[in-house]
Amino acid sequence: MTVTLDEFRRRAADFLAANAVARDEPPVEWSETERVAECRRFHGALADAGLGGITYPVEYGGQGLDKSYLEAFNRELSGYQAPLLPVTISHGMCLPVINDFGTPEQRARHQARIIRADEIWCQMFSEPGAGSDVASLATRAVRDGDQWVLNGQKVWTSGAQYCDFGLCVARTDPSQPKHRGLSMFIVDLSLPGVDIRPLRQMNGSSHFNEIYLTDVQVGHDCLVGGEGQGWNVAVAMLMYERVAIGAADNGAMGSRMGSTLLIDEARRRGLHTDAVTRDALADLYIRERVQSFIGMRIRQAAAQGRAPGPEGSIAKLNAAILSRRTADVAIGLTGASGQAWEAGDDDAGQWADGVVGAPGMGIAGGTNEVQRNIIGERVLGLPKEPDPYKGQPWEAIPRS
Ligand SMILES: Cc1cc2nc3c(=O)[nH]c(=O)nc-3n(C[C@H](O)[C@H](O)[C@H](O)COP(=O)(O)OP(=O)(O)OC[C@H]3O[C@@H](n4cnc5c(N)ncnc54)[C@H](O)[C@@H]3O)c2cc1C
Repeated sequence: MTVTLDEFRRRAADFLAANAVARDEPPVEWSETERVAECRRFHGALADAGLGGITYPVEYGGQGLDKSYLEAFNRELSGYQAPLLPVTISHGMCLPVINDFGTPEQRARHQARIIRADEIWCQMFSEPGAGSDVASLATRAVRDGDQWVLNGQKVWTSGAQYCDFGLCVARTDPSQPKHRGLSMFIVDLSLPGVDIRPLRQMNGSSHFNEIYLTDVQVGHDCLVGGEGQGWNVAVAMLMYERVAIGAADNGAMGSRMGSTLLIDEARRRGLHTDAVTRDALADLYIRERVQSFIGMRIRQAAAQGRAPGPEGSIAKLNAAILSRRTADVAIGLTGASGQAWEAGDDDAGQWADGVVGAPGMGIAGGTNEVQRNIIGERVLGLPKEPDPYKGQPWEAIPRS
């Protein structure tokens, strides 16, 4: 018998009260290793309590419930700090793609394990010569009997340092035009030939990595969506990414630097009566509300069973702009202490971290310019960007 929405909401509230820290408690300080371990524990317990993979089929480890249950759970969750960050890509992008495009064997092998965070997955798209124009990528996959052999380099792979698997798009037919000769593979990151190297960012952390693939052998049963279908799978995954970034319940920068935090900070610094500061905070608040309505619209469309479309680009672009504005207001309030701080002053460090992290929102998941191109072409119906190499085989296109 299906659980009623009220029963489900109570179950979620009880679980979160017992397993997560309330949002108004002091922030939980986890090292990355602790956060990943907590994330695995939390999602395992969530699945055991009948709350994991809410909208996914029961036979693949989900609850088989509709999106109204997911909304109800997310509403409860918004009152808590939970270790969700390590599965942002795994649950937000890889899981729906395996659900939509995976073979029954792939889904049986991985879906429940992804839901429980026994397996955490990353997205292996970008390369040194292929970011915005990811379809021009050069990582090669060559068939060898029942195996595919992968060679190439990926870059900016978020979270690969703790992930177990990656969804990797590679070129299987260079004689085809660039969008057509691609295929998507499940890559076990513990395989011989996978070399993950962390990249150090300007905020001191190493959130993303380079991944070198040297003669990495993956089985034919790791092909997702069929040979030559990599672009379709990749586009679906990017749509899920934009929706995940842009339509998140808590808007652009999550709870860390939203207007509420900044209003508190203005009060603490006695700036809340200053007209210019009040104006900036009111502007931010209004923009956040607009962003949350865009997100609500997208989530409602999803609840009615509509697949994410180019409106995800509107949400993602707006989230990136909001993130930059939030950083500007934060730096206006905190001044020099938001840029340089004494060792051990975690409060100031947190402001600086948010400020230097803000530009990344306008790059990850497709830059602001790329989102504007998508909106122009697919929402406003403007002419497509000219492509002098359209229809030509990838191998005939000049590459730097
Ligand atoms: C925080 C973060 C996390 C990321 N995580 C991942 C990940 O997990 N996996 C992954 O595969 N990648 C990841 N990326 C990489 C990201 O997808 C790329 O950085 C992004 O697609 C841009 O590519 P690029 O850096 O090569 O820039 P380029 O494509 O070289 O662009 C350079 C500049 O040119 C502009 N430009 C390019 N083409 C056009 C055009 N047609 N019209 C107008 N302007 C254009 C861009 O807007 C940009 O300003 C991440 C990036 C960030 C910042």
